[in-house]
Amino acid sequence: MADGLVNVQRPATMQTPSTQQQPAWPRPRGLLLDAMGTLIDLRQSVGSSYAAVAERHGVSVEAAAIDAVFPAIYRQAPPLAFGDLDDETLLEAERNWWGERINATFAAVEAPAAEPELQRALFEHFADPGQWQVYADVEAQLIRWREAGLRLAVVSNFDRRLHGLLEGLGLSPLLDAVVVSSVAGAAKPDPRPFSLALEALQLSRDQAWHVGDSPEDLAGARAAGLPCLLLERASTSNSRSTMSR
Ligand SMILES: [Mg+2]
Repeated sequence: MADGLVNVQRPATMQTPSTQQQPAWPRPRGLLLDAMGTLIDLRQSVGSSYAAVAERHGVSVEAAAIDAVFPAIYRQAPPLAFGDLDDETLLEAERNWWGERINATFAAVEAPAAEPELQRALFEHFADPGQWQVYADVEAQLIRWREAGLRLAVVSNFDRRLHGLLEGLGLSPLLDAVVVSSVAGAAKPDPRPFSLALEALQLSRDQAWHVGDSPEDLAGARAAGLPCLLLERASTSNSRSTMSR
């Protein structure tokens, strides 16, 4: 196993808990990486952001109330994935998808429906790299993996704002490819985004592992035929300490 990958085994960072079940997987030539909860995280809660942006639009919502309802609304949402659309139509679809989540969230906390301007402002808010942070261990780990000769691709259930976020957060130069579900036309746990990332890296499924933090990562990797390392980040609510293939 590559030196850098040994570090994957420690808990709560870009690593999994040490278990007796050390993987007997062949050394990979590439890694597919989840983004949110694996490489990057919000600096403040979704509720805090919603409340702050809504306030600027004259709408009062309680951050804690948003935080209480948002995870379930997000989990129950249809895949953030669209067909083959031109850029403008895809942007519209991405904004509408989030608009529906915003509407559902506001309705769940009995706030007045968010006007289109507020929906747009929230969409732009989360496109700002300043609202996000890179986990402390990530940059050094990506550099070590690259130095070990691994090709790296992000596979994320997100939209095209991710490209700007990774650029603004300084991670883009460390990545060989970024696949977002909205463009892929399918979201994890569907295996298609994984296939597209493997294609971009010019690797086969037995040459790569997936690293993520959620059940979608595990199920998606399984469906795509990749070993999966699940991280246990302290700040994510959906993290698991399972390691499986
Ligand atoms: Mg994640």
